[in-house]
Amino acid sequence: MTALSCESDRSVIADVPSSLRVRDHRLSGAAYRASPNCDERADPQDLALIVIHNISLPPDTFDAHPDAPDGSYIDDLFLNRLDAAAHPYFATIAELRVSAHLCIFRDGSIRQYVPFDRRAWHAGASEWRGRTRCNDFSIGIELEGSDFRPFTDAQYAALIETIKALLAAYPTLSREAIAGHSDIAPDRKTDPGPHFDWSRLHAALGASA
Ligand SMILES: [Zn+2]
Repeated sequence: MTALSCESDRSVIADVPSSLRVRDHRLSGAAYRASPNCDERADPQDLALIVIHNISLPPDTFDAHPDAPDGSYIDDLFLNRLDAAAHPYFATIAELRVSAHLCIFRDGSIRQYVPFDRRAWHAGASEWRGRTRCNDFSIGIELEGSDFRPFTDAQYAALIETIKALLAAYPTLSREAIAGHSDIAPDRKTDPGPHFDWSRLHAALGASA
């Protein structure tokens, strides 16, 4: 098998059509803040789906954090340090133990919380193409946003480059295997919501809508 070793080494693949790269299951260009809300995948090779979400804390409020200019209540939630007293809504979610692999903020900056080979806790009870427990085999990407307002151009640009990098790094993923949270948990979830422009994403990736 040694004759194939160079071809199978992803680090030597040159023409990845993305300004971002995945190395050691982390995305270049993403600030990394490790969430404890993750665990081992049953099969680390089993990456079949990308799930798109939206999140904003407080709901429909963007870029909010009173203390840290580069911080976010989203960070606080995923790092189990959300101040339940800071907003009435927070009291209802502060004890949740959730995460996503990535969050793309309104300015297009990207934060990573969980390495891609580990299981982030973003999907909950879910089903995609007959498979349940989508966390087992998916990568979860949050967009800072809500069901009620458009996402930013910077977010689309960052999302598209991120997905290109993921597709290049993990050949078991596919541009045809990208779902919204609402697609895999339709009874519980509405995100990424009606403002997420699937056609724009699919066109940028060269995928059929
Ligand atoms: Zn979601």
